[in-house]
Amino acid sequence: MNIHEYQGKEVLRQYGITVPNGKVAFTVDEAVEVAQQLDSEVVVVKAQIHAGGRGKAGGVKIAKNLDEVRKYAKEILGKVLVTHQTGPEGTEVKRLLIEEGCDIQKEYYVGLVLDRATSRVVLMASEEGGTEIEEVAEKTPEKIFKEEIEPLVGLTVFQARRMAFNINIPAELVGQATKFMMALYKAYIEKDCSIAEINPLVVTGDGKIMALDAKLNFDTNALYRRKDILELRDLGEEDPKEIEASKHDLNYISLGGNIGCMVNGAGLAMSTMDIVKHYGGDPANFLDVGGGATSEKVTEAFKIILSDQNVKGIFVNIFGGIMKCDVIADGVVTAAKQIGLQVPLVVRLEGTNVDLGKKILSESGIDIIAADSMADGAQKIVSLVG
Ligand code: ADP
Ligand code: MG
Repeated sequence: MNIHEYQGKEVLRQYGITVPNGKVAFTVDEAVEVAQQLDSEVVVVKAQIHAGGRGKAGGVKIAKNLDEVRKYAKEILGKVLVTHQTGPEGTEVKRLLIEEGCDIQKEYYVGLVLDRATSRVVLMASEEGGTEIEEVAEKTPEKIFKEEIEPLVGLTVFQARRMAFNINIPAELVGQATKFMMALYKAYIEKDCSIAEINPLVVTGDGKIMALDAKLNFDTNALYRRKDILELRDLGEEDPKEIEASKHDLNYISLGGNIGCMVNGAGLAMSTMDIVKHYGGDPANFLDVGGGATSEKVTEAFKIILSDQNVKGIFVNIFGGIMKCDVIADGVVTAAKQIGLQVPLVVRLEGTNVDLGKKILSESGIDIIAADSMADGAQKIVSLVG
């Protein structure tokens, strides 16, 4: 789960990390009011969306007086920002962070991320901050330093100090930078983050180390024990299809393709996407309806798939073990009748109550293309979608 920059900065503040004074604003008037309270010569107006790259896209503006704050707030609120992380459709800005302008001497990058290959948290940092770290990684990989963290020990002070020296933090600030990294690691662990990225971390003119940006992502599997974090969730930034799916306890992830997939079991769902790809198709989603799905749940799942405008065909691939084929068939038929199916539907059923399931489908009066195997089904839906 992702949160906004201003929320991330609040979390970091609790751990003693220095961030500029600032506050969220939902309207232009609020933005001006916050700016007034800040009592700072320079104020920064920052778009709050769940994506980076806002600066380049015109979502971060430096205002030198209240009139400029008003002007930029008006300009950015309601604007659809397109950054390299939003995709071409962009994201509408509904919140602003109004914060003190900071006298930046130099920008650095510091991040903590879970490395799935080693199953360890890695501290990554670079003196090339402010720009996209992906670009640094590509052009000057030697400027990115890493410290792999032993989980039982945690980040050690000597690792943090070594990092501060590696990225050329001025000698007199190494102590401060070390503290910063130790605090960031503490926040990362205690709040169950999956990413904590500070880009840029800055050294200011008056010799302070500060987080000017904050990107915190959280492990959704741990949210049950992080109620304070869950409260920061902004559903307005999430895919409505995924929100709907989570209400019905469905494992649904929207992807870019045009073949809707309805499958039971995460493993089968993955291999279904693989086989669709193998035959030249492009899955529109990952969907695991789970083991104990009811007919109502299958109906909801089907509706969610069909609410995706990109879907040009559906492939239902079910292995009935705990899940019974007739329940799936019932759900498919109910949903198809309720919504009025406009796209080709290929169904492959195997397992418990398969004959009953097939009977329900064939007697439904709905135009369903039956498949004998996964490969057969994948080939059929790919050719139908074209
Ligand atoms: P993004 O990563 O989405 O582009 P950032 O928060 O990193 O957004 O802001 C982009 C750039 O704007 C920063 O690298 C920094 O140079 C400048 N900036 C951001 N916040 C401030 C601030 N409070 N004071 C001065 N400059 C800022
Ligand atoms: Mg940034």
